[in-house]
Amino acid sequence: MAFATGAPAGRPEPGHPASVVIIGAGQGGYQTAASLRDHGYRGRLVLIDAEDGLPYERPPLSKAYLRGETDEGRLWLRPVSYYARQSIELVAGSVTALDPAARTVRLADGPVFGYDHLVLATGAAPRTLAVPGAALRGVHTLRTARDAAALRSSLGAARHAVVVGAGFIGLEFAAAARRAGCEVTVVEALDRPLARVVSARTAGHFTRLHRREGSRLLFGQGVAALHGDERDRVTAVELADGTRLPADLVLAGIGVVPRTGLAAAAGLRVSGGIAVDSHLLTSDPHISAVGDCAAFPQVRSGNRLRLESVQNAVGHAETVAARLTGTARGYSELPWFWSDQFATTVQIAGLDEGHDTEVVLGDDPDAFSVLLFRAGELQAVESVNRPTDHLAARRLLDRGVVLNPVDAAAPGFTLRGHLASHRGGPAVPVG
Ligand SMILES: Cc1cc2nc3c(=O)[nH]c(=O)nc-3n(C[C@H](O)[C@H](O)[C@H](O)COP(=O)(O)OP(=O)(O)OC[C@H]3O[C@@H](n4cnc5c(N)ncnc54)[C@H](O)[C@@H]3O)c2cc1C
Repeated sequence: MAFATGAPAGRPEPGHPASVVIIGAGQGGYQTAASLRDHGYRGRLVLIDAEDGLPYERPPLSKAYLRGETDEGRLWLRPVSYYARQSIELVAGSVTALDPAARTVRLADGPVFGYDHLVLATGAAPRTLAVPGAALRGVHTLRTARDAAALRSSLGAARHAVVVGAGFIGLEFAAAARRAGCEVTVVEALDRPLARVVSARTAGHFTRLHRREGSRLLFGQGVAALHGDERDRVTAVELADGTRLPADLVLAGIGVVPRTGLAAAAGLRVSGGIAVDSHLLTSDPHISAVGDCAAFPQVRSGNRLRLESVQNAVGHAETVAARLTGTARGYSELPWFWSDQFATTVQIAGLDEGHDTEVVLGDDPDAFSVLLFRAGELQAVESVNRPTDHLAARRLLDRGVVLNPVDAAAPGFTLRGHLASHRGGPAVPVG
């Protein structure tokens, strides 16, 4: 069902695809459509999503929205009038079949859309707990606005929240639950939080932060089962060592699985995500993939990787839109991420694919940056409550400004100063 169609699109420029269909109207799908129009694409543009409603941003779902500081309408990426003005057809429905030979996609309720170029922006689905009791009421995942609304309304009445998984989403939820007055226990299988995404030093800061705020963090612990009452409401989480934690609200924050089913069934190459080249093109020249679902070659390391961030989805989308309108360039943006928990913001510039040296800037335990080097080369910078360092780090890494660990450890060293002292220093004032 189309719920925003707008004026019919015009005739595309020679060389542009006659029509573009995008599956998934999350951050990546929305941005692909918006950037196509920004680049002057005039052909038919169809944006299909299984969730009904306008495209929205997900980061506030585990932050301001859960804390009750913002509402659903303020999550929208654009108002409905934008799609009408830009002749972007928003279609609510789940695509269940893709036929690359016929260049068509079919929705579950029947309609078929033909395409000249297809963009897969299908994102990722949260992993669910694979233990007895996982389907009890009160057990949640957090990916969609609907998930967040259910959690937000449960927070008011919940007394004992158990969070399984100490990744960003688990910890952000834990902070919101604590603020809402719940007793919070975080259970993590590994020996520290955020193990996939930050250094042990930065992880240690988050362990201390959550404990200081009154949450219990248990590491090296698996979940064996969830128990419920006669109304099938969760009442306890049983750990692998037999401990029972009282629980009336459980969040499984144990990561996501890229949505690759359509691509795989259509015979596209899938390898840790929908496999794309540096131009975000899949193994079919008429199909691109962007965002959380796409496994792309990382320019700096050569490794194929899949990232889950707004910056990555937006960067991919802009690369595809530029290519489809005649400006092909490989995707080479520097990755960056952020998270807010209590009064702490962590910002990460670059990717740490295994470091051998750390340099810490700042002696305030609640405001510092960790510089991560590998073989003398700066890989990534984690900044805790140091936004000026983060901006300078992004520019340094982006421009390939050389920095060695010895200079970084010298008294009085700042990233901002180092950036400014290099030719072609900051074009815009930092901080
Ligand atoms: C709670 C939460 C907090 C986050 N916080 C941050 C943050 O602080 N910083 C950050 O950088 N990133 C954050 N992220 C990650 C970021 O939101 C994602 O990386 C980003 O949304 C990825 O965009 P995407 O378009 O690839 O996927 P999504 O935004 O997931 O969109 C995919 C869309 O595809 C649709 N879809 C899938 N299959 C089909 C189908 N067959 N038919 C029709 N539609 C389909 C889905 O319904 C979905 O709407 C957060 C994510 C969550 C869930």
